[in-house]
Amino acid sequence: MANAKIILPDQQQLELPEELAGTDEALRDALASFVPEIRNAELKRETKDGLMTVTVIKKSGTKGGRGEKNCYRCEKCGKAIITIDHDDGTTPMMIRCRATLNCEGWMMSSWYQNVPNEEPTYTWRKAKPSEYRKASVVMKDHFDKGGLALHQLARG
Ligand SMILES: [Zn+2]
Repeated sequence: MANAKIILPDQQQLELPEELAGTDEALRDALASFVPEIRNAELKRETKDGLMTVTVIKKSGTKGGRGEKNCYRCEKCGKAIITIDHDDGTTPMMIRCRATLNCEGWMMSSWYQNVPNEEPTYTWRKAKPSEYRKASVVMKDHFDKGGLALHQLARG
């Protein structure tokens, strides 16, 4: 049985039986625990001389859209926050924990899927010029690529 070649975003290559690589869904399931970002990656297929090659293209951020809710869950304390997109733009895959004071964990995006039906407490919107000026080099780069800034919503 033929193997398909998989090229991961870090250029690592691996081989999988063709039936596992045959559909996007099967491939995502097969690799999700190994390469979590495959859930939201673009899969590019090519068959040349009978050999199937699938290139996994990582997206720099998740794409929601105005009014879309997302959930970020902390890997350390296990708590989650609900966010809502106020503007169109990209949002990061991981953010520092916002659910527990002084928690040093990272929160992972749920890729806008299976979001609990709760009121959002944070909103993603375009950075104001004053925020942009004060931002770090990394954040400026994120904003330059269409990235949004996270803001806490007033409660009540
Ligand atoms: Zn936490």
